[in-house]
Amino acid sequence: MRDILAPESSRWRAFTSVFADVVESAGYELIVPPLMEDLGVFSRIGEATDVVTKEMYDFIDKGDRHVALRPEQTASVCRAFVQHRPVTPWKAWYSGPNFRYEKPQRGRYRQFDQVGIEVLGVDDPYLDVEVIALGWEFYRRLGLRQVELRLNSLGEPADRARYVDALRAHFEAAGDDLTPQSRDTLAKNPLRVLDSKRESDARFIESAPTIDQFWSPEAAAHFATVRAGLTELGVPFTIDMKLVRGLDYYRHTTFEFAGGTLDSAQNALGGGGRYDGLVEDLGGPATPGIGFALGVDRTLLACDDEGVFGAPDSAVAVFVVDTAGGAAAMSITAELRSQGVSADRSYENRSMKAQMKAANRSGAEFAVIIGTDELDAGTAIVKPLRTTGDQSTVNRSDLLTDLRSRLQEATS
Ligand code: AMP
Repeated sequence: MRDILAPESSRWRAFTSVFADVVESAGYELIVPPLMEDLGVFSRIGEATDVVTKEMYDFIDKGDRHVALRPEQTASVCRAFVQHRPVTPWKAWYSGPNFRYEKPQRGRYRQFDQVGIEVLGVDDPYLDVEVIALGWEFYRRLGLRQVELRLNSLGEPADRARYVDALRAHFEAAGDDLTPQSRDTLAKNPLRVLDSKRESDARFIESAPTIDQFWSPEAAAHFATVRAGLTELGVPFTIDMKLVRGLDYYRHTTFEFAGGTLDSAQNALGGGGRYDGLVEDLGGPATPGIGFALGVDRTLLACDDEGVFGAPDSAVAVFVVDTAGGAAAMSITAELRSQGVSADRSYENRSMKAQMKAANRSGAEFAVIIGTDELDAGTAIVKPLRTTGDQSTVNRSDLLTDLRSRLQEATS
């Protein structure tokens, strides 16, 4: 777990606000679920996943409840849906930290942030297009260019079941030539064998049957509409038949955004898909859902690599230097701030030189300087800090107006 300090922290805030702009303009509303839920909420997302079985921060609270810090937010959103029964389609977006006890490395942390959306209550391929296109649009707004969208369809649940049987038969035929780890995975979930990155498994994965051979006509039609829609909207994608999310809930469209600059083991910037059964399992009515989650930490690493979406300028506009005791700085900063002009100052009545140094370091556009002469005369010196312009003396009563027009000029 790490601290995010300025200027990186300003970037995080800007990141969330760009995401909010993109999804709120498409009718998504913010949901803020709790950081902690009953363990049962998360165990529903898959007893066979590492996220649930190995990586959860769970504990017994003082009321003897078995709770867990959330490892992701889809389950919480579905739990909230069951609890509040909002009108469908329910379009929700979220942002915030998740917790997984993973092996930390670049792009993988035990506390990491995600932004995401979920839509509950609609089974329409055009919604799949909307959701994916919003993710794509978000990357575009950040300025990222090297993002690859990988797309697949898992078909209807029955298609998927037939595919799993075929995969099982295929990998079982490989017998002991398959790595022991993959044989282990095979016993639990044949789909996950396709995720194996081990070299000696590669040829069996290469020759494995692909899901398209098992799509029902309805599933094939759904996926054709999704592909046509994305093409129409100018969202490029590649079909990746190996993209089979391991959870039983997934059906139809699944997708992943991969960062072209990142290491292949950690290059997933985000992913999502259509799922069924999660709401029902949490005690609600049968409800289709679709969504995605994008990792903030990793997406910002990709931004660093591509040299885009740097930290926004968070410097104050004005820095007040007061060598006459500090009371004038108190009044002036308070007035400027209350009038919407950001302002800072130094403290402890330091020397002119030290205060000017602080003013320059602050990144402010102007310094307002008050010495004893200015204090007595009811004036202030305004000095540009970012340009070489001359300083001038203004009456205290005109200071706000003067600064406003200078700031406007400086930023125009
Ligand atoms: P998932 O919920 O596992 O599908 O992950 C969605 C996205 O969240 C991934 O593509 C990553 O960008 C990000 N992510 C998942 N786990 C971590 C982690 N431990 N540290 C940083 N980012 C993560």
